Amino acid sequence: MSRSVSKEPFDIDRAVRLVRDAVRRLPKAAMFELAEEGFNSPFEQLIACIISIRTYDEISLPTARNLFTRARTPADISQLAVEEIDALIRECSFHERKAPQIRAIAQRVVDEYGGALPCDREVLLSFAGVGPKCANLALGVACGEPFISVDVHVHRVTNRWGYVSASTPERTMTALEARLPRRYWIEINRLLVPFGKHICTGSLPRCSTCPVLDMCQQVGVTNHR
Ligand code: SF4
Repeated sequence: MSRSVSKEPFDIDRAVRLVRDAVRRLPKAAMFELAEEGFNSPFEQLIACIISIRTYDEISLPTARNLFTRARTPADISQLAVEEIDALIRECSFHERKAPQIRAIAQRVVDEYGGALPCDREVLLSFAGVGPKCANLALGVACGEPFISVDVHVHRVTNRWGYVSASTPERTMTALEARLPRRYWIEINRLLVPFGKHICTGSLPRCSTCPVLDMCQQVGVTNHR
């Protein structure tokens, strides 16, 4: 279909319903998958998100499970040497940088918070290696607090829709906070990660069979399937 064809007004409630249906059969976003497996504490979610940075889900999921099988609480991880953590997460990108960060977080949680990471955004953002994406995802998934986590998929898809117009994930987060109904703040990441990986892909998105084609502005899409 040509982008010159007139579009329906973008209806976020309808889009969410359609995307829910579309991703039902797809692999879940990594953090939501881990949460369903029981790795759903704020600490586990935060550590898993750090492991996932610049790493494909196919690698980060088994890597997080590998670490948590050996140690999954701040007290347990603080007992490990950095070298042991590094060996356990060696499959993920930047493991040599992430290992000391993970150990330092575990140690601070033990020393300052009695061994349990609080659901406090300022605390999460105070750790080296933790940015808004991971802090918001951990708070959303583990604490049920409404924060929007914008990764490359959420950024790409919502801008292609024309729902926001922002040049970076950080700006997309701000734009979504202003427009997206709060009831979707946690879910948007769970939906758009698989949607972006398998349907609205980085190159050659599957527009011709996409369920939201009639209202998507296809911003920046020059070729599609
Ligand atoms: S696949 Fe195409 S139609 Fe669907 S959301 Fe992405 S750009 Fe829009």
